[in-house]
Parts: sequence; structure tokens; C-alpha cells
Amino acid sequence: MSSEENEKWKKAREKEDEAKEEEGEEEEEDEMEPKQKLIQILISTGLLLAAYLIDRNLTDLAMWQRLLVYLVPYFAAGFDVLKEAGEGLAHGEALNEDFLMCVATVGALLIGFVPGGSPMFAEAVFVMLFFQVGELFEGIAEGNSQRAISQLLDIRPDTANVERDGKVVTVSPEEVSVGEIIVVKPGEKVPMDGTVIEGATSLNTVALTGESAPRDAGIGDPILSGCVNLTGVVRVKVEKAFGESTASKILDLVQNAGSAKSRSEKFITKFARVYTPIVVAAAAVLAFLPPLLTGNFMANFATWLLRALTFLIVSCPCALVVSVPLAFFGGIGAASRIGVLVKGSGFMDALARTDTVVFDKTGTLTKGVFEVTDLHPDQIDQRELLHLAAHVERYSSHPIAQSLREAFGNEDDGCLVENVEEIAGKGIRAKVNGKTVCVGNTRMMDAVGAKWKLCDTPGTIIHVAIDGVYAGHIHISDVEKPDAKEAIEALRKEGVRKTVMLTGDRKEVAERVAKDLGLDEVRAELLPADKVSCVEELLAKKSDNGSLVFVGDGINDAPVLARADVGIAMGAMGSDAAIEAADVVLMDDQPSKIASAIRISRHTISVAKQNIIFAIAVKVAILILAAFGLAPMWLAVFGDTGVLILCVFNSMRTLSAGK
Ligand code: ADP
Ligand code: MG
Repeated sequence: MSSEENEKWKKAREKEDEAKEEEGEEEEEDEMEPKQKLIQILISTGLLLAAYLIDRNLTDLAMWQRLLVYLVPYFAAGFDVLKEAGEGLAHGEALNEDFLMCVATVGALLIGFVPGGSPMFAEAVFVMLFFQVGELFEGIAEGNSQRAISQLLDIRPDTANVERDGKVVTVSPEEVSVGEIIVVKPGEKVPMDGTVIEGATSLNTVALTGESAPRDAGIGDPILSGCVNLTGVVRVKVEKAFGESTASKILDLVQNAGSAKSRSEKFITKFARVYTPIVVAAAAVLAFLPPLLTGNFMANFATWLLRALTFLIVSCPCALVVSVPLAFFGGIGAASRIGVLVKGSGFMDALARTDTVVFDKTGTLTKGVFEVTDLHPDQIDQRELLHLAAHVERYSSHPIAQSLREAFGNEDDGCLVENVEEIAGKGIRAKVNGKTVCVGNTRMMDAVGAKWKLCDTPGTIIHVAIDGVYAGHIHISDVEKPDAKEAIEALRKEGVRKTVMLTGDRKEVAERVAKDLGLDEVRAELLPADKVSCVEELLAKKSDNGSLVFVGDGINDAPVLARADVGIAMGAMGSDAAIEAADVVLMDDQPSKIASAIRISRHTISVAKQNIIFAIAVKVAILILAAFGLAPMWLAVFGDTGVLILCVFNSMRTLSAGK
């Protein structure tokens, strides 16, 4: 990534941070860059070495003079930790890992002054240094994950070449309005969503979909912002304003990803909140109680104080606090690499526990691109039937509507379309040239009292009525997505117990598709509200710990998307509302990506769990040793930082999951 893009990413992050602060959330102080941290560590190591040499060669130094000598490397190594601990105190949340480190190291610096205690100046500095090494690794790992996610930010187009007054001018994409013509040259990012009106090219869509094979686009084909134009010059008619474009939508999603916290993350935060005070209290008891019990407090205090300090160092929960969120961050990054946007780590949890997957049919398992296969008019001619249907559908975004418009072709023929009313799951009604035309399924016909005719040809049937009188029907047929069958099989392999399809379409069509794809259950002729009650019923039936995933394009199913444990929307075909309501977005509309996303989420969860178990096991072992005085302070430090570094590396594995 170039430094310029790096800047952009940072700015985006800053904006986000500001927004968070406005919401009153406590945000961490700006951390040092890994490079700065490394320099700090190197300088402090040098200073520690110098202090050590001075201390060894000047043997007649008093204890306080030795303290002064070591304070130099101590402050060099730990000034930021001290500062953060101090700020924590000021905010009334003292018990963080910085605070633990400060208490432990200040204790080690002072133990030499306790009667019977041997000085541990060098050890104190060393502890601080090692803590910083851990922080360094944390910073590097976080940077890597961030960079992976921000590769998606590469899709942000900087300029658009727009044709104005016969000239091509370069402007920022925000200034281009819908309907203008832009020119996209090879090597450029497509700045806006639109349709190709001249030229042909192939596009690299990897940033949008994770798919590296180039996609061809010619006249009439849609072209999405964020793709890279590879071969030819194309003229594109802009169809969406920049704020509404695919690139902007994705950028918003990416920047907000990770805001919903996962159960494991929440667990860790809560855990640290309860755990740290307990540890501090236990350390205090360990320092004071045993020497009091022995009867000779002063003789034993130094020994027990040292044990208590060691105990404090080991018990620092930073390995967990750092590595668990990092694992989720990496998992989200891995998913976005294959074109799956997960809007928060909480949905990783839920995805990993997928038990039932419910699909919408049209646009989800099928392409949603219908072909008119037959026209059966009743008392009007064929062309008039299609003409009326296409006009009623003029403003609808339903896949059926788009297909009818395309089949008719000649949209702008001057006909008047008014009072459009779409009835979800049934059809649509409008006034065309003064006549009320209804287009939809048999329910729609029943609603207006038109006597529809039964037809036993398989496929979807769209009935038409004019002023309440039946005017015939149109046969349309859709094809299954090429990866739909494979998607269901892959889900089963991932251990998904049940796959269900819900649709508003005819029973015959639904059952054929379900059989073809090998779905477990199918319910047809549903209204949007029926879909919600079906999902509620399935929610009640699923296993307790499992989750229900609903996959749809948001047309007539946005309420279900919101109701399911995880709502997955189609990013390319799906409506804006769906993309907003969904928890996960499939950028390239391929249902087979769902199984991949489940795999990534499971891997992420297992890495987080490994870290939790490993870190707690090692710490408990050292804690027990420390309580009995069997763990020297350096072992505690190695234990703590070593575990942190191993956990961080383990977490980074999630970033390459699903490859
Ligand atoms: P699905 O559940 O398969 O996505 P919908 O709930 O969107 O289907 O639609 C159910 C049925 O309602 C369609 O099969 C069609 O018969 C009818 N319908 C819905 N909207 C329209 C429309 N705009 N034009 C014509 N028919 C429609
Ligand atoms: Mg639908």
C-alpha cells in the first residue's frame, strides 16, 4: 500500500475515533507506531546496559544513588506506560494492565529499601522493557490486520473523467451527477456505478468480490465503482450518485466493521474488569498476611513482597485483552478478502454456530433474471400484454419488474404511468394511460376480482388484469445460480443441520428448485409476513446453541433479514435497505461464499479459544509457582510476554484463513 493510501486509511480511522469520542466512548490514547516503539526499546536497552556498568564499577554507591542510576533507563522504557497508568487512575479505571506493570516495577525498584530485601533495580527495568516488547508485537500484528482490511479501501476512486460541453474534464467523483457520461481508461478505477454505452473492456473486480478472474463488460452491461478497468476505453452513463455507489457503500461497511463486539470479546473485557482487582487484592494479601502470621513481620516481609510482585506481573491479562480482539479483526479481514463483509465480530460468533440456513429464492438461489418464455393474452394482443406489464413495473426494483422491462425493451414510448402501488409478495398496480392495470400472482388477481385462468406449464406466471378484468398471463423463467447446488452441499459439509427455502413464488416452481438443489425444506406462496413467521417457527426449532442464518436479497424479505440471528444480504443485486439491515454482505452474490464464511468464523473462534485456554493455563501454573516462591521474577516476565507474543502470532493466523 502506498503511503498516500496509508494516510487515507488513517484519516478514516481518525474520523471514526472522533465519532466514537462524541458518543462518549472511552478510546485508548494514540499508540506509538511500531517503529517508534522499537527505537524506544533499543535506546532503553542501551541505557540499561550503561546503568548496569556504572552500578558494577562504582561499588561505593548508596542505595538511593543506585536507584537514581537505574531510574534513567526505567523512565526511558516506561514513560508511556506510566503515563497511561496515571491517566487510567485519573479516569477512575485504575486496574488495567499498565497499572499492574507500574505497581510491579515500582515495587521492584523499592524492594531494596525494605529491610532484608535485596535490590532489584535491573530486574524492574527489564520487566518494563519486556512489557514493551510485547506491545511492539501487538502493534505490528494490528498493523498487518488493518492493512489487509484497508486493501479494500483501495477501491476508493479519486477522480472521474466526465464529459461536459464536448470536453472531458477531471473532477472528484462527488461532483458527477446521475445521467452524466464518464470516460474510464485502462488502468483506472471505475469511479461511479453506471452502464457502458460505448466500448468494451475487461474489469478486475477483485477488490469487490475477491474474484481474481477478469470480467468482461460491453455496451449495455452494468459497471460498478471500485473495479479496475483493464483493457479498453469505455464511456459510461452514470446511474448512481457517488454517495450511493457500490464503492462508497463498501467503504462505509468496512469502516464500521468490528463495531459490534463478539461474545468472546465482551467476555474478555468483563473478565479483565473482575479479574484485575482480585489479582491486586490477592497480591496485597500475599505480601502482608504470611509475614504477619510468622510473627516476625520485618524479617519475612521482603521475601513475600517479592513473591507478590512476581504474582502481579504474571497475572497481567494483556495476552487475552490483546490477542482475542486481534483474532476477530483478522477473521473479518480474511472474510473481506473473499468478498464477504462481516459487520462485526459478534456475527463471527453467530456464524460459527450456524445450525439452520434459510434462503430466499428469487435473486438468492436463482439469478433473478427472468426470461419471458410465453405470452398468453386474453382478448388483447401479445405485444399489448407485455407493454402494459412492463409499464406498470416502470419504477419497481423487483427482479421480475426488471426482467419484464427488459423483455419489452421500449420503455420511453411516451405512455403515462401514475399511482404506482406495489403490494409486497403479490404484485403491483398502476394507472397506465388512464387504465388501472394490475400485474402479479393469483392472490393479486383475487384481490381485484379478476377471473384468472389456471395454467399448468411449469414456471413462474405473472397475471395481468385491466380495470379488474383478466387480460392474460406471462410465463417467465429464472435459472438457478451456477454455484447454488454446490453452496448447499458445502453447508451440509460444514455441519449445517437444516437448509430451508422460503419464497413467494408458486409451489410448483419452488418445489422444483428445492429438489434440484437438494434443500431439506421448502415453503412457497408466502407473503413477507409469512416469511417472518416461518423464520420464527424455525428459530424455535433450532438447537439451543445454534444460530439461524437467513440469506436474501432484501426485496420483500428485509424484515426477515433483521429477524434472523445472522442476516446475509446480496451485495451486488440486493437493495440498499437489505445491505443496511444485513449483518453480513456477499459482495458477489454467490451463495457458496456462505460456507466459506462459516469456515473462517469457526477458525477465528477456535484461535480465540486456543489463546484463552493457553494463556490462562500458563499463567495459573506460574502463579502457583510464584505464590510458593518458586518462580523468579524473570520467569514471570518471560511467561507473561512470551504468552502474549505467542497468542498474538496465533491470532494472526486468522488473517489467512479461508485461503
Ligand atoms: P421471492 O420470495 O421468491 O423472492 P417475492 O416475495 O419477491 O418472491 O414475490 C412473490 C411473488 O409475488 C412473485 O413470484 C410474483 O408472483 C409476485 N410479485 C411480487 N412483486 C411483483 C412485481 N413487482 N411484479 C410482478 N409480480 C410480483
Ligand atoms: Mg426475493
